[in-house]
Amino acid sequence: MEEKLIRGKIIADEIISELREEVNSLKEKSGKVPGLAVVLIGEDPASKVYVNSKEKMANSLGYHSVKIVLPIDATQEAVLAVVDELNNDPAIHGILVQSPPPPQIDEEQIILNINPKKDVDGFHPSNVGLVFTGAKDGFPPCTPWGCLELLKRSKVETKGKHAVIVGRSNIVGKPMASLMIQKGVDSTVTICHSRTADLGAEIRRADIVIAAVGIPEFITGDMVSEGTVVIDVGINRVDDESRPRGYRLCGDVDFDSVAPKAALITPVPGGVGPMTIAMLMSNTLLAFKRIENIG
Ligand code: NAP
Repeated sequence: MEEKLIRGKIIADEIISELREEVNSLKEKSGKVPGLAVVLIGEDPASKVYVNSKEKMANSLGYHSVKIVLPIDATQEAVLAVVDELNNDPAIHGILVQSPPPPQIDEEQIILNINPKKDVDGFHPSNVGLVFTGAKDGFPPCTPWGCLELLKRSKVETKGKHAVIVGRSNIVGKPMASLMIQKGVDSTVTICHSRTADLGAEIRRADIVIAAVGIPEFITGDMVSEGTVVIDVGINRVDDESRPRGYRLCGDVDFDSVAPKAALITPVPGGVGPMTIAMLMSNTLLAFKRIENIG
């Protein structure tokens, strides 16, 4: 089974060490470093974990890292004021407002107000459009870009292959499809969602399956053909009293029944998760190079 695993953690570490080398050499040349600002509204435990690990990684790479924590009852105006300040801060090249915000916040409006050149999450419509049209100066959203990088670095052939994406969210499913049909990637893509008539039939026709459903262990062995490459984006907490924390993490794919049939498969945890942070760091470096016109 070992040889079938796409070890995202190891690939993410490789990317991080490539970034570290580039950041050090750019710092030597210019005396400047990339700056990343992460804004957290409220105290949601999962969001806090994500924000802290982004901050820790940015620090470890020598980035200028800023974490802004706003109270759970922060107003839309207060969040917009922070975004505006960061847009105008020359030491900040990347801005991220952690999702999901509390219900009084209009997330779409916040995203629209982030300077697209600093939108390292790749959620601003301007970046969505640039990535969709294949233009070089957009920012691909970190999770789907991480999935594509996993396929590339695992030497999975994508050209002419049939990729079936399960999920059509704006942060994973749709941008994943947009990346898989780009020239150079060249997959033929099917996007499935909750109204897809026969999900198993669609997935069984896939060479590559990318699961982003948000339902624990939803895709089972009977839905997958022999030799399929399986990328599991899902991160779900399932109650498990045998674990010290009282839960375990699992993906959207039922690993035990799918792995025996898969050619390659990502584990959860240790698959797509670490790649998301690595690609965020990569986008921040990209934003730095574009804004400072170096590299
Ligand atoms: P989401 O916004 O909830 O979207 C889920 C998608 O799955 C929707 O398009 C939904 O279809 C579809 N779906 C739901 N039930 C289905 C069914 N029975 N059959 C087929 N499709 C179904 O979720 P998301 O934000 O894309 O996240 C998906 C998963 O990825 C979650 O587990 C999340 O935690 C994880 N995630 C991981 C990372 C990472 O860094 N690894 C990053 C982001 C997300 P409809 O559109 O029809 O409702």
